[in-house]
Amino acid sequence: MQEKGTISIHTENIFPIIKKFLYSDNEIFLRELVSNAVDAVQKIKRLSALGQYNGDLGELRVEVAFNEEKKTITISDNGLGMTAEEIKKYINQIAFSGATEFMEKFKDAKDANEIIGRFGLGFYSAFMVADRVEIESLSYHDGAEPAHWTCDGSTEFEISEGCLAERGTEITLHINKDAEEFLNKNRLQEILDKYCKFLPIPIKFGTTTQEEEDGVDEEGKTKYKSVTVDNIINEINPIWTKAPADLKDEDYFDFYKKLYPFSEDPLFWIHLNVDYPFNLTGVLYFPKLKNDFEIQRNKIKLFSRQVFITDEVKDIVPEFLMLLHGVIDSPDIPLNVSRSFLQADSNVKKINTYITKKVADKLAELFKNDRKGFEEKWGDIGLFVKYGMVSDDKFYEKAKDFVLLTNTKKENFTLSEYKEKVAPEQTDKDNNLVYIYTNDLAKQDAFIQSANKKGYDVLLMNSPIDNHFIGHLENKQEKTSFKRVDADVADKLIKKDDAPAHVLTEEQSTKAKAIFEKAINKPAYKVELESLNPDELPVTVTMDEFMRRMKEMAAMGGGMSFYGSMPDNYKVVINANHPLISRILNEAEEDVQTKLSKQAFDLALLSQGLLTGAELTEFVNRSVNLI
Ligand code: ADP
Ligand code: MG
Repeated sequence: MQEKGTISIHTENIFPIIKKFLYSDNEIFLRELVSNAVDAVQKIKRLSALGQYNGDLGELRVEVAFNEEKKTITISDNGLGMTAEEIKKYINQIAFSGATEFMEKFKDAKDANEIIGRFGLGFYSAFMVADRVEIESLSYHDGAEPAHWTCDGSTEFEISEGCLAERGTEITLHINKDAEEFLNKNRLQEILDKYCKFLPIPIKFGTTTQEEEDGVDEEGKTKYKSVTVDNIINEINPIWTKAPADLKDEDYFDFYKKLYPFSEDPLFWIHLNVDYPFNLTGVLYFPKLKNDFEIQRNKIKLFSRQVFITDEVKDIVPEFLMLLHGVIDSPDIPLNVSRSFLQADSNVKKINTYITKKVADKLAELFKNDRKGFEEKWGDIGLFVKYGMVSDDKFYEKAKDFVLLTNTKKENFTLSEYKEKVAPEQTDKDNNLVYIYTNDLAKQDAFIQSANKKGYDVLLMNSPIDNHFIGHLENKQEKTSFKRVDADVADKLIKKDDAPAHVLTEEQSTKAKAIFEKAINKPAYKVELESLNPDELPVTVTMDEFMRRMKEMAAMGGGMSFYGSMPDNYKVVINANHPLISRILNEAEEDVQTKLSKQAFDLALLSQGLLTGAELTEFVNRSVNLI
């Protein structure tokens, strides 16, 4: 019995086009064929369980083997098999039907996955790497005849009697010249590790190697023999398929090590498990954060029924959780998932919402049950939490009860604890709460000390997200504003009615101002006299909070270019009550007055790291002379 036929595609030789188009991603042929084999094995298992197959299941497995000499890769399984009729139906009509459609639309497809997914080219992807593909199959049906099918990648196929004696399917690819890289143990192992490591049916990978034999041949050369090694490459029950109650912490740590061999232990994890309204399982880990966020991104692996799909999970996982690690498995996501699918699919949006909620719940639970442990981890999780609060309102609502503010003394407070702590000292005359913060402990030390002296607490806000976080809290929390500690002199940070009295007369004030303006002689520095505590510094340089923020936003490209083009403007606050100011006023020589004023001004700059270059050299020389 032999039959020839023509696959019902109207366009001849579309394969070269598809091959070329898919070239960059051609390794996925193995994923497609192995997952078809796994499907076939699972189907026979199911038929057997349903009593529709009464034969012996045998040891269910899938095998991948290659032969370098014959240039073949073979994928075989003892699944349900196919009759000749079924091959014609499933392979010729179904697997090839997508190709016709493909021809019409391939122009607007963006990547290989999109094409394969949209046009159902799973089996068909074999032609990306093979000149000819053969199928040997024996169906599980009683009395079925073995079938053989071969196709050279044109629209012609040939079907004849097959030679398989046992149930299952064997697919042989005759690898083409451009794809010979796949006739290599390491390369195949790499692909299997990537896509098939957690498949639910044992995958054997057979390689044939030459080993030295004892003794030598007639010509005195070492004898070799061929040895075939079969290794099972996958773990059939990875932890995300198990119930959390059956797992120990060790199991989670071990699995993490398996996924990311050189990483430090994760901080904690969340085991995901939903079956309504969509199916999803997985384990998400909170890693220890490194400074370089980019290399930590895109570490979540997306699976569909234990077949690896991609680590581009952008639309499934909320942006603020992109630094998490781990796996997500959802059968609702097709194998050949494409970006456009993810964006359009309504389940994806629900998955995203679900993950956000689970993460918030887990954090709330940690906070509630182990506050100390939570605080210890805050350095790593704070960034996620703040990012989440800024970008997702639902997350904000949950996180506002456990987000921590840390002060310069490394004490942690929740929002409500902090409010209670600072309200007595840091409420201004209009009944607004003013939170004071620093983003640079070293540079702003003098300001922090002054603020502490006044009884103000200073928060440390130095993570990359803090600017946004501060803005967001100001929007959300009523009558609360943030001021950077160097936004004004300590006495003026929080406007109160009790300004201390001025010791200078009107005339002295005007004179002092003139002396400093002359000594500083820079338009960007605006001199002002304030009546501060005598033990505050004689001169302080500040930049207005509003102005600084606008400039920072402009610098980050957030509109406001008007502010970006403005020069830096500083306020030079002269402490009218400081004894040095009286001394300068009492100096007879103008020259000395200028020198002392300049010195006091430079000291202010110096304390903020603003004194550099030639000005710093001049300051050092002047200081030496003064000594
Ligand atoms: P899909 O897997 O999405 O159905 P494929 O193109 O990968 O599309 O496969 C087409 C069909 O061919 C499958 O649905 C299945 O019926 C059949 N098939 C492919 N490989 C095998 C196999 N190893 N054993 C049994 N049937 C198979
Ligand atoms: Mg398939």
